[in-house]
Amino acid sequence: MQFRNLKLVSNVVFGRGSFQQLDEILAPKRKGDAPMVFLVDHFFEGKALPNSIPLRGKDAIIFADVTYEPKTKQVDALAEELKNTYGTVSGVIGIGGGSTLDLAKAVSLMMRNPGSSADYQGWDLVKVPGVYKVGIPTLSGTGAEVSRTTVLTGPTRKLGMNSDFTPFDQIILDPELIKDAPANQRFYTGMDCYIHCIESLEGTYINEFSRSYGEKALQLCQDVFLNNPTWTDACDDKLMMASYAGGMSIAYSQVGVAHAVSYGLSFLLGTKHGIGNCIVMNHLEEYYPAGVQEFKQMVAQNNIHIPQGICSNLSDEQFDAMIAVSLGMKPLWENALGKNWESIMTKEKLRALYEKL
Ligand code: NAD
Ligand code: ZN
Repeated sequence: MQFRNLKLVSNVVFGRGSFQQLDEILAPKRKGDAPMVFLVDHFFEGKALPNSIPLRGKDAIIFADVTYEPKTKQVDALAEELKNTYGTVSGVIGIGGGSTLDLAKAVSLMMRNPGSSADYQGWDLVKVPGVYKVGIPTLSGTGAEVSRTTVLTGPTRKLGMNSDFTPFDQIILDPELIKDAPANQRFYTGMDCYIHCIESLEGTYINEFSRSYGEKALQLCQDVFLNNPTWTDACDDKLMMASYAGGMSIAYSQVGVAHAVSYGLSFLLGTKHGIGNCIVMNHLEEYYPAGVQEFKQMVAQNNIHIPQGICSNLSDEQFDAMIAVSLGMKPLWENALGKNWESIMTKEKLRALYEKL
């Protein structure tokens, strides 16, 4: 048996206002006059947050367009631009939701690794550490702040650069940065965490490491999304730690049916991760009966609309494309359904599930 030797984020700061410590954290990591590059979610363009970024010397802010989830060519173009402009940089600091965090991780890696990021989509293909990288989430739920992957859509697949070089060197978890997230977006991204917990806890890969984080994250999600009429600062604190713990849980287990099916939606239709997971979770009673019932309570109590009928006009070829992407996520299915998952989740069964969405 080969046990996973989990690579963790090296340094973690948590607390309201901890973002103000960024200058001090970056100071010892500066290499001569090579700049720090701040990759900031485009949502913050023209808002207050960029004004509190501690720019020094040639430091630059680049607003990341996350209208669509990150693509390998977007990563390659950003890394190329940085190399052409600065030669090298002292570090890349991602400030935003999961998409921006993933972009920052990937750009950091592509500052040092040759070729295209598409060459590294897979497991342990990255061989050289990237430049120093920092993650500062402004949405909570994906766990991208702790994971060893960066999910990218490439020319032929949607798959992460999974490697020991992928985790951030530093993360700053400041709940004040997530406080203005709109309720819908907060819910969709928060449900990513809830679904991580259900898939991890109900999966066959579960172990005490993953369970201890998963149970805590689940409880925090329940605290904030159930029987909680008013959203308070404490809810942001809890959701931020739920995301962290949920990410730690799946890091040592795996996600399951909702993610495997949602990857197909996002590859074909561009459906975003959080909402895609919710669209699928809504129809997974057969696999996660208690989790789906509770999910539906959360949807109702938070007055959230989950889209329906998104696959109603698709062709056979389109269904086949989604099915191929989804069934390609073998570890997810094995975690969810066990070693003989292929005899349980047939193409026909998966097609019927997609038709319900
Ligand atoms: P996101 O980063 O895609 O952002 C969603 C929207 O919210 C964007 O329009 C963004 O501009 C906006 N936004 C960001 N912060 C905001 C704020 N504070 N207030 C208002 N709007 C804000 O959303 P997400 O759900 O955080 O991340 C999804 C992405 O994360 C996907 O690309 C997915 O593939 C990736 N992901 C990665 C991992 C991993 O381990 N690396 C895990 C799960 C998901
Ligand atoms: Zn997820």
